[in-house]
Amino acid sequence: MTLVKAYAAQAADKPLAPYSFERREPGEKDVEIKILYCGVCHSDIHTARNEWGGTMYPAVPGHEIVGKVTRVGSGVTKFKEGDTVGVGCFVDSCRYCSNCHDDLEQYCENGHTQTYNSMTQDKSGYTLGGYATAIVVDEHFVLSVSDKLPLEKVAPLLCAGITTYSPLRHWGLKAGDKIGVVGLGGLGHMAVKLAASMGAEVTVLSRSASKEKDATELGAKHFKLTTNKDTMAGLANSFNFIIDTVSAQHDYNEYLQLLKTDGVMILVGAPPQPDPVSAFPLIMGRRSLVGSLVGGLKETQEMLDYCAEKGITSDVEVISIDQIKEAYERTLKGDVHYRFVIDMSTLH
Ligand code: NAP
Ligand code: ZN
Ligand code: ZN
Repeated sequence: MTLVKAYAAQAADKPLAPYSFERREPGEKDVEIKILYCGVCHSDIHTARNEWGGTMYPAVPGHEIVGKVTRVGSGVTKFKEGDTVGVGCFVDSCRYCSNCHDDLEQYCENGHTQTYNSMTQDKSGYTLGGYATAIVVDEHFVLSVSDKLPLEKVAPLLCAGITTYSPLRHWGLKAGDKIGVVGLGGLGHMAVKLAASMGAEVTVLSRSASKEKDATELGAKHFKLTTNKDTMAGLANSFNFIIDTVSAQHDYNEYLQLLKTDGVMILVGAPPQPDPVSAFPLIMGRRSLVGSLVGGLKETQEMLDYCAEKGITSDVEVISIDQIKEAYERTLKGDVHYRFVIDMSTLH
C-alpha cells in the first residue's frame, strides 16, 4: 500500500480539506500514476455536496486526470514507467457484458466502476478520485496522452472532451449542420470547439451576456441570450442538433422548439432535479430527446488522438489545491473560463 495525499469532502455541507489514504500496490495489470493535473468537473461538485444522492464520505472527487506512469505490474503491455497518461470517468467494468465487449464500458450492464464514489467490481470498497497525488488503475482504463500539447489543457478532455465528442460522433454531426450548445461552461466550451472542428455551424445559447466574445473566439458563429424571450422565439426550428450541458434545472421544452424537423437534442448536463417534458414539441417536429454518458475507452483514445492532431485543448485556469473551495463557488456562479485545473504539485 502507498500513502497518498488528497483533498476530500467529509460531508455534504463541508468544504474539501486535506486527507490522506492508501492506494493498492499495483497488481499484475495495474498502472501506478503520479497525478500532475486534475480538472474540476461540475460532477465533482454534485458529488461532494451529495446533490445526486448516494455520496460516500470521505469523498475524493476528480476524473480528469493526467500524469506520469511511475510503476507497472508484470502483465502490463501498453505502458511503461515515464509514459504520459490519462484517466477519465471510470476505472473498471465487468469486462464480459455485451456493452463491455463492444467498447461501451460506460454502459456496462453490470455496473461500471467510476473513478470516484463508486463501488469496486469486487464490492470491497469505493473509489477515491484524482484530487490526489497518485492513482492505481488497470491498464485497460488508462489512456495514452500526447506530450505535444500542454498537459494542464489536456486534462479536461478526459471528461468534458469525451462527453461532448461521443454524442456528436454517435448522432453523426457533419459539416454544415447547425448545432446549438446550451450552457458555456466546461462541457459547453469543449462542445463548441469540437463541433466547430467538425465543420458545424455553432450557436452558443447562454444566460450570460458576458460570454459572447469568448463564444466567438472558441469557434461559435452566433451567440444568443436564452433569457431574452424574443430571441428564443426567433430561433424556432433552427437547429439540427442541440447539446445541453446545463448543470441546473431548466425547461427542456423551450429548447426542443428550437430544433428543426427530425432534430436531436442531446442531454449531457445532469441537473439533480427532474424537469417535465411535454410530448408536443417532440410530436410536432418528429424531434428526439436523447442522453449520453462520457465515452468508452476506445472512443476516448480516438478523441485524444483527434484533439492532438487538430491541436484542440481546453481553456483552463490553473489553480493550487487550496483554491478548490473558491473554484467550486465560482463554477456554481458560472464564472469559469472554462475549466479549473488543479496543479497537483501544490498538494504537499
Ligand atoms: P459548468 O462548467 O458549471 O457549466 C455549466 C453551465 O451551465 C454554466 O457555465 C452555465 O452556462 C449553465 N448553467 C448553470 N446553471 C444554470 C442555470 N441555473 N440555468 C441555466 N444555465 C445554467 O459544468 P460542467 O462541468 O460543464 O458540467 C455540466 C453538467 O454536465 C453537470 O451537471 C455535470 O454533472 C454534467 N456532466 C455530465 C456528463 C455525462 O457523461 N453526461 C459528464 C460530465 C459532466 P451559461 O452561463 O453559459 O448559461
Ligand atoms: Zn466530469
Ligand atoms: Zn460490462
